[in-house]
Amino acid sequence: MFKNKKIFVLGMGKSGKSVAKLLSKDNHVLITDMKCDNLDEISELEKLGVNVIITKDQTSIFDNTYDYVVKNPGVRLDHPVVLKAQKFNIPVITELEVAYRYLPEVKIIGITGSNGKTTTTTITYEFLKTAGLPVHLAGNIGLPLCDQIDDIKKGDILVVEVSSHQLVNLDKFKADIAVLTNLYQVHLDFFGTYEKYKLNKLRIFNNQSANSVAILNKGDSEVYELTKNLKASKKYFSSKDEQADIYIDGDFIVYKNEKLLELSSIRVKGIHNYENIMAAILVAKEFNVSNEVIKEVLNNFAGVEHRIEFVTKLNGREFYNDSKATNVDSTITALKSFNNDVVLILGGLDRGHSFDPLLPYLTHVKHIVCYGETKERIKEFAFKNNIDVTVTDSLEEATHAAYNISLEGDTILLSPACASWDQYKNFEQRGDEFKEIVSSLV
Ligand code: ADP
Repeated sequence: MFKNKKIFVLGMGKSGKSVAKLLSKDNHVLITDMKCDNLDEISELEKLGVNVIITKDQTSIFDNTYDYVVKNPGVRLDHPVVLKAQKFNIPVITELEVAYRYLPEVKIIGITGSNGKTTTTTITYEFLKTAGLPVHLAGNIGLPLCDQIDDIKKGDILVVEVSSHQLVNLDKFKADIAVLTNLYQVHLDFFGTYEKYKLNKLRIFNNQSANSVAILNKGDSEVYELTKNLKASKKYFSSKDEQADIYIDGDFIVYKNEKLLELSSIRVKGIHNYENIMAAILVAKEFNVSNEVIKEVLNNFAGVEHRIEFVTKLNGREFYNDSKATNVDSTITALKSFNNDVVLILGGLDRGHSFDPLLPYLTHVKHIVCYGETKERIKEFAFKNNIDVTVTDSLEEATHAAYNISLEGDTILLSPACASWDQYKNFEQRGDEFKEIVSSLV
């Protein structure tokens, strides 16, 4: 709890507003951002007694009279306010840490990793909810925990997606069950080096004791090596290693040496998703969720929106929305999930990145349709590698072209390998538009 503290909230994103509201009850709160177009939000905060200041020069309004800085997770670690706070010895924390200190006695499941956080978090939540347990979904998944404090009771279970940006400024936060899905070289611009990024990911295990549980990917050698000396009891999943607690053997997921599930009974596709599922099953088993519940959930779960999400089947063609694939690695993951003929829609913001890493995974891609800022570079990439390509001006044109090119039995996959910001607010908006265009094809 925070009482009579002077708190500087840096960033008016979803989590900033949520933390300001919670803290405003008993503290002096200032929230600041460089811009805020929503005047209603400002007046809502002001009514709660929050001092809202929109300025480009946030450093000049920050001084050593504050007790805490609550920083938006995305704000850089070398932001002048953060550096100034460090100089004044003022703790810098994030919304999740604040929320943690308001919680009654609950069980926390913290899920992190370079990829698969949202999917693993969602499946875990579905398992526990379907089993009838008192569970809440929160965190980086777009649901700030501070917003939910009033609904959480003693004995409840929280499934919390924790991003690496949130982990940096956690202090007392303790995950009773912590999951680390995998490690890839991402967010190097934020952390500086991969070494620093990896070490930061291990903070999910901070404050764990011998009674805690760590759920780890044994098939990821870096995860395995880095977590050897944890205090918590370790449970392993792996798509490769039969020494793990849960693993894949042929067409089955095997748990405690018994065939638990046939892969064909799972609706979502791809080895990566089976890994996410196995991690979630290990969590569910900590709460004795039955195999029947697990099977029921996986029979129905069609994937998280915008992540290789099945959209519809139309005249024998299946449409998948993987708008979340904002880089080449994610598109590779999607391509590995299909083995029939694919018409692939690529394109978006040009960060100057190469498309060459896609090449080994394009063997079943019969045609690329491109659009957006990167379209000319994608065309060159396709020409150079003798892949059929169609260049269009918009996602709408691209989707129509892909449909016209496709044959019965094909998959039409939007997995753009580019960020959306050349034409869209975010990848969600791009994915929503794709789904609308597809539904208009009917
Ligand atoms: P995150 O929340 O970590 O960004 P998501 O669950 O939203 O992860 O999945 C985003 C994308 O990451 C997916 O569309 C897929 O391309 C890739 N992905 C998901 N799970 C995994 C995994 N276990 N291993 C590798 N890649 C994955």
